[in-house]
Amino acid sequence: MTLLYYNPRFLDHDTGAHPECAERLQAIVEHLKVTGLDEQCTRPNWSPICDERMARVHSASYTRALDAFAQRGGGHFEPDTVLSRDSFDVARLAAGAVVDASERVVRGQDTQALCLVRPPGHHALKDRAMGFCLLNNVALAATTAQHQFDVERVLIVDWDVHHGNGTQAAFWTDAQVGFLSIHRWPFYPGTGAADETGSGPGLGTTLNLPIRFGTPRQQYHDRFRQALEQMAAKMRPQLVLISAGFDSHRADPIGSLGLEVDDFARLTTAVLDVAAQYAGGRVVSVLEGGYNPVVLAQCVEVHLRALLQAGNPGD
Ligand SMILES: [Zn+2]
Repeated sequence: MTLLYYNPRFLDHDTGAHPECAERLQAIVEHLKVTGLDEQCTRPNWSPICDERMARVHSASYTRALDAFAQRGGGHFEPDTVLSRDSFDVARLAAGAVVDASERVVRGQDTQALCLVRPPGHHALKDRAMGFCLLNNVALAATTAQHQFDVERVLIVDWDVHHGNGTQAAFWTDAQVGFLSIHRWPFYPGTGAADETGSGPGLGTTLNLPIRFGTPRQQYHDRFRQALEQMAAKMRPQLVLISAGFDSHRADPIGSLGLEVDDFARLTTAVLDVAAQYAGGRVVSVLEGGYNPVVLAQCVEVHLRALLQAGNPGD
């Protein structure tokens, strides 16, 4: 089985005419229903993230400002990021899903989980919303796992087409959380150069793979797999988190690195392989970008099929 997290409440983060819109999730959920994949998954109940856990990544002044801005009715919180009245509550529910998934996977209730959440998280900084992201879902899961679930070492793999600058910043000096990002370069948000590798005790636990538009797909996969194996061997993670963006598909309206749907099955399998080797197979995948709803749904399908296959190797 695989744990599948989705709640219709995620649609209430109403961004209006915006690429990061509710239709993205509606398309995925409808597609998983038609393909019957949703019935092969376990659907847990969970709670929004609490203040104490949120404070490990975000400043209290920032989360208070988000809350107050949403309660006043929302609008543009920063140039790219829109809130509606419900957005802060929805963001807390999204982060809570990723934390809950990590806890269940660490405790052995299942080995894989997929969190179909919004808003996304990997650009969110300690005290700043950015690039459609409010709370850094994977960073909150990693820090909670370290502090409360007896996990010492975590590897975060980010294959969204954009660099996960918020996640990188959260663990820049952390020796226990590895961060591997493969992303289009040069591109938004401007960070993620190959020489950004962490500092202090975290030196060498950040690994960036900037990829030029037009790079052949095979070369993309070769570089990803080699870097992934290198980081996994270095970190020996007990839990692997995926910032799973699907905006590197060639038909994505704001991203694209020329990938096809099947490429996301290959990426998933590569992560599952290192998770099996080091982390008892424990993988929690979290939706980030992907802005062509039809294609996004197809990409999530092959991603989930690979996760389910890892949970049922006899099938
Ligand atoms: Zn993205």
